[in-house]
Amino acid sequence: MTSNRLLVIDDEPLSSATIGRIARSSGYDTIITTDTDDFRSRVTEWEPTVIVLDLAMPEMNGRDLLCWLSKQACAAQVLIVSGREAAVLQEAETFGKSLGLSMAGFLQKPLHAEVLRTAFRNIYDVAGVISIQDVSKALVNQEIRVMYQPQVDLKTGTTIGFEALARWDHPKRGPISPATFIPLLEGKEIMREFTFQILEMVMDDMVCMNSRSNCGVAINISATNCGSVELAEVVVSMCSSREIPADRITLEVTETAAMTEGKPINACLERLDELGVRLSIDDFGTGYSSLIKLHKLPFSELKIDQSFIANCVFDRQSSVLVQAMIDLAHNMGKRVVAEGVETEETLNQIREWGCDIGQGYFISRPLLPEDMHVWIDREIQSGREWSC
Ligand code: C2E
Ligand code: CA
Ligand code: CA
Repeated sequence: MTSNRLLVIDDEPLSSATIGRIARSSGYDTIITTDTDDFRSRVTEWEPTVIVLDLAMPEMNGRDLLCWLSKQACAAQVLIVSGREAAVLQEAETFGKSLGLSMAGFLQKPLHAEVLRTAFRNIYDVAGVISIQDVSKALVNQEIRVMYQPQVDLKTGTTIGFEALARWDHPKRGPISPATFIPLLEGKEIMREFTFQILEMVMDDMVCMNSRSNCGVAINISATNCGSVELAEVVVSMCSSREIPADRITLEVTETAAMTEGKPINACLERLDELGVRLSIDDFGTGYSSLIKLHKLPFSELKIDQSFIANCVFDRQSSVLVQAMIDLAHNMGKRVVAEGVETEETLNQIREWGCDIGQGYFISRPLLPEDMHVWIDREIQSGREWSC
């Protein structure tokens, strides 16, 4: 069986023919179906690596199919297509993510060949080509490194910290995004090794910044890391051997992971809190939080998902939701971070709504460790904050 298998479910003959033609010319084994029963049996028997799913099917809506895929623990990348407005497609993508599916984005019909070709090329990179063994080798060869994206206090303009983002410098393929390889590690033992290596690198970089700055660093962790209290003990021992106060570390755990019922996750998060490590709920708004559960979790920060921030200036629904999330965080006594701030308008808008911290390309792209040090030095030497 080849490693790139693409299954299309779309009842419109013209668009499914276009998708099929471009997919085949992009190197995929491709099957097209218009029937949901046939689709289900193909998913279970043929195990596609990519699924192109039309949201509007005559007998079943796309959301139901997404729920079904999630119940099958389907690992394929799911690309949504539809003639509906972008907000509906975006909402379906967010819904898929909240179900734990690997969402590869959405495309609006009519479909243009070049747009499809680019999407398939990007997904092809993800599907089938990289294996766990490759990631394992990359860890041994130290091909995975960390970049740092500044987080700025929106009232004062001061940099309060950085988010550490993993990067894989593949010797042949060039930089590979974490969004490509991290899903492969979920639920596997290798996630432990990966996270500990990232933690080590971050802590070493923090030692270099320690004497000059009080900035904190936020590190992403997966639910897979929270299966026991080991993570808490490791973080604290790494901090103490380098004399880094534990409260300068924030661990970001996604809303979906944090809401997962289970004693081990709760115990791990509680132990981290006891030891003084901060917790942030990442991608907030994409999961389905119960307010009671949220209230019980020992976190100090909510991080609003970038899909809401990207649209909050011009989309009424996103604007209402972002304001509600800011108020919710503040009413619970937590600070709130907006990620994906791409424009000045967005920055001014969220600041007006009282959001505490901003992060995004408008402020800075993720920086190499040496450029993070330059960023800190510039702020200290000029006595000036990032001018927002
Ligand atoms: P995330 O935690 O939501 O991280 C934010 C992502 O948005 C990063 O992508 C960042 O580069 C990107 N970003 C930042 N500002 C903007 C902006 O203004 N506009 C847009 N469009 N994007 C922006 P990146 O670095 O590709 O990371 C993707 C995801 O991979 C992260 O999403 C996180 O879930 C995961 N990840 C990254 N590093 C690690 C890690 O060390 N461990 C784990 N478990 N997950 C990681
Ligand atoms: Ca994050
Ligand atoms: Ca996020």
